[in-house]
Amino acid sequence: MSSSIPWFDDFVGIAYRYYDLRMNVVPLITDRKESASLWHDTIHWWVDSSIKIRFVEMDDEYWFIMGSDSQKPDTNLSFFKILPKSENYERFKKGHGGEAYLRLGVYTAKSLDNAKKNAMCDCGHEAQDHDEGDDDVCLFNKCDCKKFSSFQVNLLKRKKTITDIKFLEEKDVKDDTLSWNCINVNKYSKSN
Ligand SMILES: [Zn+2]
Ligand SMILES: [Zn+2]
Repeated sequence: MSSSIPWFDDFVGIAYRYYDLRMNVVPLITDRKESASLWHDTIHWWVDSSIKIRFVEMDDEYWFIMGSDSQKPDTNLSFFKILPKSENYERFKKGHGGEAYLRLGVYTAKSLDNAKKNAMCDCGHEAQDHDEGDDDVCLFNKCDCKKFSSFQVNLLKRKKTITDIKFLEEKDVKDDTLSWNCINVNKYSKSN
Protein backbone atom coordinates (compact mmCIF):
# COMPACT_ATOMS: atom_id res chain seq x y z
CA MET A 1 0.00 0.00 0.00
CA SER A 2 1.43 3.33 -1.02
CA SER A 3 2.06 5.88 1.71
CA SER A 4 1.09 8.67 -0.66
CA ILE A 5 -2.64 8.03 -0.30
CA PRO A 6 -4.11 11.15 1.36
CA TRP A 7 -5.42 10.85 4.93
CA PHE A 8 -9.04 11.82 5.45
CA ASP A 9 -10.34 12.72 8.90
CA ASP A 10 -13.23 15.05 8.11
CA PHE A 11 -15.92 12.89 9.67
CA VAL A 12 -17.66 13.02 13.03
CA GLY A 13 -16.83 9.64 14.50
CA ILE A 14 -17.59 5.95 14.19
CA ALA A 15 -20.80 4.18 15.17
CA TYR A 16 -20.72 0.47 15.93
CA ARG A 17 -24.05 -1.19 15.22
CA TYR A 18 -25.22 -4.77 15.17
CA TYR A 19 -27.26 -5.04 11.98
CA ASP A 20 -27.67 -7.65 9.23
CA LEU A 21 -26.12 -10.45 11.32
CA ARG A 22 -22.76 -8.71 11.65
CA MET A 23 -21.25 -5.85 13.52
CA ASN A 24 -21.18 -2.74 11.35
CA VAL A 25 -18.42 -0.16 11.48
CA VAL A 26 -20.00 3.11 10.43
CA PRO A 27 -17.98 6.27 9.76
CA LEU A 28 -20.39 9.15 10.42
CA ILE A 29 -20.63 11.90 7.83
CA THR A 30 -22.72 15.01 8.47
CA ASP A 31 -23.56 15.72 4.86
CA ARG A 32 -25.60 13.28 2.79
CA LYS A 33 -24.07 14.43 -0.50
CA GLU A 34 -20.58 14.09 0.87
CA SER A 35 -21.30 10.58 2.09
CA ALA A 36 -22.57 9.66 -1.37
CA SER A 37 -19.49 10.99 -3.11
CA LEU A 38 -17.12 9.37 -0.60
CA TRP A 39 -18.72 6.06 -1.38
CA HIS A 40 -18.92 6.64 -5.10
CA ASP A 41 -15.38 8.01 -5.59
CA THR A 42 -13.47 5.99 -3.02
CA ILE A 43 -14.99 3.12 -1.07
CA HIS A 44 -16.88 1.63 -4.01
CA TRP A 45 -13.50 0.90 -5.63
CA TRP A 46 -12.00 -0.83 -2.64
CA VAL A 47 -11.11 -4.49 -3.02
CA ASP A 48 -12.95 -6.10 -0.09
CA SER A 49 -10.23 -8.58 0.75
CA SER A 50 -7.65 -5.79 1.06
CA ILE A 51 -9.63 -3.50 3.40
CA LYS A 52 -7.87 -3.10 6.72
CA ILE A 53 -9.06 -1.47 9.91
CA ARG A 54 -6.74 -0.83 12.82
CA PHE A 55 -7.47 0.37 16.31
CA VAL A 56 -4.42 1.78 18.05
CA GLU A 57 -5.12 2.36 21.72
CA MET A 58 -3.44 5.21 23.59
CA ASP A 59 -4.71 5.71 27.15
CA ASP A 60 -8.40 6.67 27.02
CA GLU A 61 -8.35 7.23 23.29
CA TYR A 62 -7.88 5.17 20.21
CA TRP A 63 -6.91 5.87 16.65
CA PHE A 64 -9.35 4.48 14.12
CA ILE A 65 -7.39 3.77 10.93
CA MET A 66 -8.82 2.35 7.72
CA GLY A 67 -7.37 1.84 4.28
CA SER A 68 -7.54 -0.40 1.25
CA ASP A 69 -6.16 -1.14 -2.16
CA SER A 70 -8.33 0.47 -4.78
CA GLN A 71 -9.26 -0.28 -8.37
CA LYS A 72 -9.19 3.49 -8.85
CA PRO A 73 -6.02 4.64 -7.06
CA ASP A 74 -6.33 8.29 -8.20
CA THR A 75 -9.25 8.97 -5.88
CA ASN A 76 -8.27 6.65 -3.08
CA LEU A 77 -8.24 7.88 0.52
CA SER A 78 -7.27 6.41 3.85
CA PHE A 79 -9.37 7.28 6.88
CA PHE A 80 -8.31 8.08 10.42
CA LYS A 81 -9.84 9.66 13.50
CA ILE A 82 -8.75 9.96 17.13
CA LEU A 83 -11.70 9.03 19.31
CA PRO A 84 -12.46 8.47 23.00
CA LYS A 85 -12.91 4.82 23.97
CA SER A 86 -16.61 4.15 24.43
CA GLU A 87 -18.88 1.31 25.52
CA ASN A 88 -19.79 0.62 21.90
CA TYR A 89 -16.15 0.51 20.94
CA GLU A 90 -15.42 -2.02 23.71
CA ARG A 91 -18.43 -4.07 22.64
CA PHE A 92 -17.17 -4.15 19.07
CA LYS A 93 -13.68 -5.10 20.25
CA LYS A 94 -15.06 -8.09 22.15
CA GLY A 95 -17.77 -9.12 19.70
CA HIS A 96 -16.63 -8.62 16.11
CA GLY A 97 -15.44 -12.19 15.58
CA GLY A 98 -12.97 -11.22 12.87
CA GLU A 99 -15.49 -9.77 10.43
CA ALA A 100 -17.52 -6.61 10.06
CA TYR A 101 -19.51 -4.68 7.50
CA LEU A 102 -18.38 -1.24 6.52
CA ARG A 103 -21.20 1.20 5.86
CA LEU A 104 -21.39 4.97 5.89
CA GLY A 105 -23.84 6.74 8.16
CA VAL A 106 -25.37 10.17 7.87
CA TYR A 107 -25.25 11.90 11.22
CA THR A 108 -27.84 14.50 12.19
CA ALA A 109 -27.65 16.40 15.46
CA LYS A 110 -31.06 16.90 17.08
CA SER A 111 -31.93 19.95 19.13
CA LEU A 112 -34.63 19.83 21.81
CA ASP A 113 -37.05 21.54 19.40
CA ASN A 114 -36.87 18.87 16.74
CA ALA A 115 -36.34 15.78 18.89
CA LYS A 116 -39.15 13.37 19.72
CA LYS A 117 -40.21 13.41 23.39
CA ASN A 118 -38.61 10.04 24.04
CA ALA A 119 -35.37 10.81 22.17
CA MET A 120 -32.44 10.04 24.44
CA CYS A 121 -30.03 12.81 25.43
CA ASP A 122 -26.34 12.05 25.81
CA CYS A 123 -26.92 12.39 29.58
CA GLY A 124 -29.16 9.29 29.46
CA HIS A 125 -32.47 11.08 30.05
CA GLU A 126 -35.24 11.66 27.53
CA ALA A 127 -36.03 14.90 25.73
CA GLN A 128 -39.21 15.35 27.80
CA ASP A 129 -37.06 15.44 30.96
CA HIS A 130 -35.35 18.60 29.73
CA ASP A 131 -36.59 22.12 30.38
CA GLU A 132 -38.13 23.68 27.30
CA GLY A 133 -37.24 27.17 28.50
CA ASP A 134 -34.29 29.23 27.30
CA ASP A 135 -31.65 26.77 28.40
CA ASP A 136 -32.71 23.17 28.00
CA VAL A 137 -31.19 21.83 31.22
CA CYS A 138 -31.96 18.32 32.37
CA LEU A 139 -34.59 18.34 35.12
CA PHE A 140 -33.32 15.22 36.89
CA ASN A 141 -32.05 16.22 40.34
CA LYS A 142 -28.66 14.63 40.19
CA CYS A 143 -27.96 15.21 36.52
CA ASP A 144 -25.59 18.01 35.58
CA CYS A 145 -26.56 18.08 31.89
CA LYS A 146 -26.94 21.72 30.82
CA LYS A 147 -28.06 21.24 27.25
CA PHE A 148 -30.03 18.58 25.45
CA SER A 149 -27.94 16.88 22.83
CA SER A 150 -28.86 13.90 20.76
CA PHE A 151 -28.30 12.60 17.29
CA GLN A 152 -29.77 10.35 14.71
CA VAL A 153 -27.82 8.07 12.38
CA ASN A 154 -29.11 6.87 9.03
CA LEU A 155 -27.17 3.87 7.83
CA LEU A 156 -26.64 3.79 4.10
CA LYS A 157 -27.41 0.42 2.50
CA ARG A 158 -24.28 -0.17 0.48
CA LYS A 159 -21.66 -2.13 2.31
CA LYS A 160 -18.25 -3.75 2.10
CA THR A 161 -17.01 -6.70 4.09
CA ILE A 162 -13.94 -6.25 6.28
CA THR A 163 -12.00 -9.28 7.38
CA ASP A 164 -8.67 -7.71 8.36
CA ILE A 165 -9.22 -6.17 11.79
CA LYS A 166 -6.48 -5.57 14.37
CA PHE A 167 -6.27 -3.97 17.77
CA LEU A 168 -2.81 -2.62 18.51
CA GLU A 169 -0.86 -0.71 21.09
CA GLU A 170 1.41 2.13 20.05
CA LYS A 171 4.50 -0.04 20.55
CA ASP A 172 3.21 -2.53 17.94
CA VAL A 173 2.63 0.09 15.27
CA LYS A 174 6.08 -0.14 13.69
CA ASP A 175 5.25 -3.68 12.52
CA ASP A 176 2.01 -2.68 10.81
CA THR A 177 2.39 -0.71 7.57
CA LEU A 178 -1.01 1.01 7.53
CA SER A 179 -1.03 2.21 11.13
CA TRP A 180 2.65 3.12 10.97
CA ASN A 181 2.02 5.33 7.94
CA CYS A 182 -0.94 6.95 9.62
CA ILE A 183 0.66 7.72 12.95
CA ASN A 184 3.93 8.70 11.38
CA VAL A 185 2.28 11.22 9.05
CA ASN A 186 -0.35 12.51 11.45
CA LYS A 187 1.50 12.46 14.77
CA TYR A 188 5.26 11.89 14.78
CA SER A 189 6.15 14.13 11.87
CA LYS A 190 3.92 16.90 13.25
CA SER A 191 5.34 17.07 16.76
CA ASN A 192 8.57 19.04 17.05
ZN1 LIG B 1 -29.41 15.83 28.93
ZN1 LIG C 1 -29.98 14.20 32.39
